[in-house]
Amino acid sequence: MTLILKEMETRQVTINANPQTGPKLVSRDSKPEGTIVEVEGIPIGGKEIVVMAGPCAVETLEQLTETARSVRAGGATILRGGAFKPRTSPYSFQGLGNEGLEMLGKAKAMTGLPVVSEVMDTRQVENVAKYADILQIGSRNMQNFPLLKEAGDCKLPILLKRGMMATIDEYLYAAEYVLSRGNSSVILCERGIRTFETSSRFTLDFNSIPVLKQRTHLPVIVDPSHGSGERWIVPSMAKAAIAAGADGLLIEVHYRPEEALCDGSQALYPEDFGMLMADLRKIAEAVGRSIYNR
Ligand code: PEP
Ligand code: MN
Repeated sequence: MTLILKEMETRQVTINANPQTGPKLVSRDSKPEGTIVEVEGIPIGGKEIVVMAGPCAVETLEQLTETARSVRAGGATILRGGAFKPRTSPYSFQGLGNEGLEMLGKAKAMTGLPVVSEVMDTRQVENVAKYADILQIGSRNMQNFPLLKEAGDCKLPILLKRGMMATIDEYLYAAEYVLSRGNSSVILCERGIRTFETSSRFTLDFNSIPVLKQRTHLPVIVDPSHGSGERWIVPSMAKAAIAAGADGLLIEVHYRPEEALCDGSQALYPEDFGMLMADLRKIAEAVGRSIYNR
């Protein structure tokens, strides 16, 4: 054990070779006890694991509220849903924008679940912040430096996804941008990286969980939905994430995945989500933790 810890210390020194320019504020050294990000009384980064779930995109009020009700019943404590969607093709559904935000507000009022929603542009921050309790910065924007600075100036917690091509160092520097502007409520999210492998949408990098937990005091969650891209893979990856020490999960669920306008093939059916939650409770217990219950 001592040997392993010694090895970890040496590695950290090698990675952060330059103490002047290394990411300081996010570093575990600066806050050994770890950060707990509070979202409407829900502690993220503590002993309890927080599950965020919901559709990839907000599509209709019915789709959102029905899905929200089902994830709440399954045990999720935060609702996800994108109103502004980063899509590869300009011809794909781009999200409902401000109308989608209003629907998120209604779903929150109906279910009591706080909301996480993506912001892609500095000009969207003010509006998304009116409806969301956590601002998500997506993989494709991990190094959108003006957006990171704007997020740092804002008071809301930030869910910062790992860039699909980003190294851990680059990821930590991105988080450092937010902290360096005064916002220390940052939740990191491993969502898979690009590798030579084509059998799944992305390659979920599970090494990053212990590595990030060792290098930073920020909470680390995992998105097994984008990480795999296929519904049948999601439960295994979600369970593995908890076993590997993740502080939470971000999972896509849709009340009718076959009708989804975005990412339907990776969305869990509400029943699957409920069954997965039962398994997650057991895994959490096995690693000395529990799933946060409202
Ligand atoms: C999302 O969570 O809706 C999303 C677009 O994910 P990512 O940025 O990880 O691709
Ligand atoms: Mn998605």
